[in-house]
Amino acid sequence: MTHIDGDGVNYETRLGDTTQTHRLPSKTVIWAAGVAGSALGKSLAAGAGAMLDRAGRVIVRPDLSLTGYPEITVIGDLASAMSYPADPAKGKPTPVPGVSPGAKQMGRAAAANLLRRLKGDATQPFRYIDYGNLATVGRKAAVVDLTVPYVGALRFSGFLAWLFWLFAHIWFLIGFRNRLIVMLDWGWAYWTYERSARVVAEPPSAPPAMGPPH
Ligand SMILES: Cc1cc2nc3c(=O)[nH]c(=O)nc-3n(C[C@H](O)[C@H](O)[C@H](O)COP(=O)(O)OP(=O)(O)OC[C@H]3O[C@@H](n4cnc5c(N)ncnc54)[C@H](O)[C@@H]3O)c2cc1C
Repeated sequence: MTHIDGDGVNYETRLGDTTQTHRLPSKTVIWAAGVAGSALGKSLAAGAGAMLDRAGRVIVRPDLSLTGYPEITVIGDLASAMSYPADPAKGKPTPVPGVSPGAKQMGRAAAANLLRRLKGDATQPFRYIDYGNLATVGRKAAVVDLTVPYVGALRFSGFLAWLFWLFAHIWFLIGFRNRLIVMLDWGWAYWTYERSARVVAEPPSAPPAMGPPH
């Protein structure tokens, strides 16, 4: 794809040495590209022989360290990590999803393992606890799909779910100042339809890489 604007996209096809440009008219363009690991993964592969997965994420050991380098820990989106069941006899390891609860839990697990290493104790495998999912669907609706300890599955959608999503996201931010700023920022964006964060890019040369900001 070489160009996106308000009326469609341009894309190219190549057959041998011949390149053809096509136009696909559309008022709605949905981007669904994946996310690649940071370039730091390549440095770890080159410098420490780390194995990378297809997305460029670093494949880590059960305790989130690098094979051959127990002093190096990779966490968050850059780690291709598995979650180990509390009772290995009852289940097998599952991939940790690339979401912020995964990154936060890995942070805590890495700190706990660091303390264990300082005391000369064995490190523990990482275990991801999946509390469920929250997703917004437009401006006034969301979907809540949670597993609440001792209660079980909690599933609902609509405006109440949207309020739940809003407060949950603000609640999990660190510090009162951050919560207040994000609440004001979101309030402004909601009522004015304006986003405070904008990506400022160089004016594109022909053909433009992107359409004008909306
Ligand atoms: C569009 C989008 C929507 C998402 N929505 C959700 C959602 O609704 N819920 C959810 O749970 N998760 C969501 N995620 C995923 C979530 O953002 C990530 O899982 C989470 O941010 C991972 O945290 P992290 O600290 O590992 O990485 P990041 O938050 O990406 O932080 C990594 C930091 O390291 C910096 N960095 C990179 N390379 C270097 C280097 N060489 N030197 C120094 N610094 C470096 C980066 O600039 C960045 O600041 C979304 C992700 C995307 C892209």
